[in-house]
Amino acid sequence: MSFKDIHFMKIAIKEAIIALKNNEIPIGAVITYNNFVIAKTHNLTESLNNSTAHAEILAINIASNFLGKKIRKCVMYITLEPCLMCIGAILCSRIEKIVFGASNTKGFLLNKIKLHTKIIFVSGIMKNKCESLIQDFFLSKRIKYKKNI
Ligand SMILES: [Zn+2]
Repeated sequence: MSFKDIHFMKIAIKEAIIALKNNEIPIGAVITYNNFVIAKTHNLTESLNNSTAHAEILAINIASNFLGKKIRKCVMYITLEPCLMCIGAILCSRIEKIVFGASNTKGFLLNKIKLHTKIIFVSGIMKNKCESLIQDFFLSKRIKYKKNI
């Protein structure tokens, strides 16, 4: 765990908090190139009414607009372990390094997938903060749901 990883994860967490304020699932993503932030965004599935508008996909699109295929030299910071769709997009983009905070509740998906690329995965950066964001969100949804019954 490096200072740099924590610094950029804090920016991803700020993005997740913006998502939360907009009633989106609080997941944020940041992409850096040579230690400069070139994309920072968050989950927008509700706002865009598009189930594929995950933070990672949106961040890859933004970064690709700037860098094209140079995106492979980037690092992506995500508050939550990527889902299967986003892992696919990450593999296609060939981003070299992925850093994430909380692990997916369905288990460490990345361990189950045999990767044929040399992507570096770093997990557990600011894990507690990333986990509590997502857990609190779903807890509040469950409470609201029960109140409506
Ligand atoms: Zn995803």
